[in-house]
Amino acid sequence: MIVVLSKGISTHDKDMIRIYLKDRGFSARDQILGDDAVIGASGKGVADIRELGLLPGVERVAATSRPYELASRESRVEDTIVTVGTPGQQVKIGGSRITVIAGPCAVESKNQIAETAALVRESGAVMLRGGAYKPRTSPYAFQGLGMEGLEYMKAAGEANGMPIVTEVVSPELAVQMKDLTDMFQIGARNMQNFELLKKVGSLGKPVLLKRGPSATIEEWLMAAEYLLASGTKDVVLCERGIRTFETYTRNTLDISAIPVVKALSHLPVIVDPSHAVGIRAKVAPAALAAIAAGANGLTVEVHPRPDEALSDGPQSLYPEQFERLMRDIEALAPVVGKELLRTPRPHLSVESAAVISTGHSTGQSDKIAFSGESGAYAEQALMRAFGEEAPRLSVPSFTAVFNAVLDGSAAAGVIPVENSLAGSIHENYDLFLRYPDIAMVGELKLRIVHCLIADERANIDNISIVRSHPQGFAQCQEFLDKHPGWQLEPYNNTAAAVASIAREGAVKVAAIASEAAAQAFGLKVLRAGIETNPLNYTRFVIISRRGDGKGELTAAPVPPSLGSEKPNKASLVFSVNDEPGSLFACLKILSERGINLSKLESRPIHGQPWRYLFYVDVHLPAEGPIPQNANPRFDVSFEGAIEELKTKTEDFYFLGNYRAAV
Ligand code: PEP
Ligand code: MN
Repeated sequence: MIVVLSKGISTHDKDMIRIYLKDRGFSARDQILGDDAVIGASGKGVADIRELGLLPGVERVAATSRPYELASRESRVEDTIVTVGTPGQQVKIGGSRITVIAGPCAVESKNQIAETAALVRESGAVMLRGGAYKPRTSPYAFQGLGMEGLEYMKAAGEANGMPIVTEVVSPELAVQMKDLTDMFQIGARNMQNFELLKKVGSLGKPVLLKRGPSATIEEWLMAAEYLLASGTKDVVLCERGIRTFETYTRNTLDISAIPVVKALSHLPVIVDPSHAVGIRAKVAPAALAAIAAGANGLTVEVHPRPDEALSDGPQSLYPEQFERLMRDIEALAPVVGKELLRTPRPHLSVESAAVISTGHSTGQSDKIAFSGESGAYAEQALMRAFGEEAPRLSVPSFTAVFNAVLDGSAAAGVIPVENSLAGSIHENYDLFLRYPDIAMVGELKLRIVHCLIADERANIDNISIVRSHPQGFAQCQEFLDKHPGWQLEPYNNTAAAVASIAREGAVKVAAIASEAAAQAFGLKVLRAGIETNPLNYTRFVIISRRGDGKGELTAAPVPPSLGSEKPNKASLVFSVNDEPGSLFACLKILSERGINLSKLESRPIHGQPWRYLFYVDVHLPAEGPIPQNANPRFDVSFEGAIEELKTKTEDFYFLGNYRAAV
């Protein structure tokens, strides 16, 4: 049983709780659960949980039915998000992000770890792995470079802005290694080395806990409990394959452990496909399966020259294979409702920092604006782009998002522009034309899973009214067609529809919105996944004020959390003369420069019947060398294309260029 204490509880109240527990036959321990102080009570005692919950200083009581109390979902419902690294170089593991750790099996030399760090970072890995102390089956095999190797790895991590994780094999070494590593790894062979777990846990640093080759899930979670009970609050579980009768792979990746552990525990779960399969060609499929099964990240062995590796060469990926894997993860992530956390590429970070610091934001706000209430899809997109803890500003309409960004009450905003089933959200495209000082600076795709949501007491057979945003209705057309008697009431956004039901306590009204919105307002999901087609994605763009007003090609400040990778996409709007070949002439300018058109849509111009604006998205050519003195956010040939387009169009708007996922 876990008694979560109120923040600022007095010593007296705490003593009273301990006495209460001891009087009823429990032993009581002071422990930490995430950011909360708790008293862990164990033993054969009997207590009235309700009464205990009413004692002064008790926030809540979690009755746990599992032997791993601090690690169990029962003690903490929300996912734990583990932060690794020092301020300015921090990486989060858990929640909706996919965190990829990569590096060699072992640190072999200063150059090898520096080279690998730069390579994996270039492909988007956010943390560096590598063994300085290698637990090898043979005493004659390479044992690692020890503390010297760890020094090299720390330097390589720092040079590339990546926190590091490395294996610790003894309690004595844990103390020596503490200040050099950002995260300790407990290797599979040491999962039940309890003295090691106690020592490492007591140092308070984040720990990556590998599953033992023949450990049950319960034994693995008990090992995590040792770490948590010893004082660390940051434990990440790592499935790395278990010993089975199969011999064609090094181990057997226990994919099913991922959803099982995620249900049993609040701790993040990552997967090590390299040690699981042990064969280079099988690493990527296993990695993708892990992501599809809900893993919060991966740790992958990559070597610049695997054939020369001193350990685990056969399972180490070539850098090109790792790059390909990262791209595939990026494409897969939205399908499972996640986003790949990427590190900005190093060569652009200085430029981006300059743009940010000279940006014209009038206010000091660091908030990100979105339209809607808590649980809105736009809020989910915002959290994917900026993290769960991002300060946010909820406003009632899309126009209000633009206004907040323009007047500086928000540093950036997140708005939907297109849905894969229902098409463009024209209202927002039109806003870009009305707000020329606002530009698109980022893009992300969110998988939309709609739910029919109603009051706890409601029954689907008694529903008579359904509320949602018109897009919500459009995307659930087939489901709604099966209920012709329902009256549809349009709302400004899906979450506002949910909020209205919570406010009114109505039982015959349902809303179409996200599961998160149902949770935010304490309502029930009557039916989940009611969208006509499960391949239902909404493209959100991140908007920001333009940099210095020098014209359409001026970069807008890019929020630091979006990184500063070279843009690969741009959005334009233009109109052409009413004469033969005028649209063709514009498209030819793009085609001649190898610029790929990914969207072309025509829209009537307000107030000018039968005249149209063209909405164009283009994919910019792959990275080429960046010319000296050029603004690296723009490609020269693209800049030339824009200049030429301006001469061939009547009205021309450059909405922005940004980094989009593949
Ligand atoms: C490692 O990650 O380097 C390693 C030795 O893994 P495991 O402990 O899972 O075998
Ligand atoms: Mn290895």
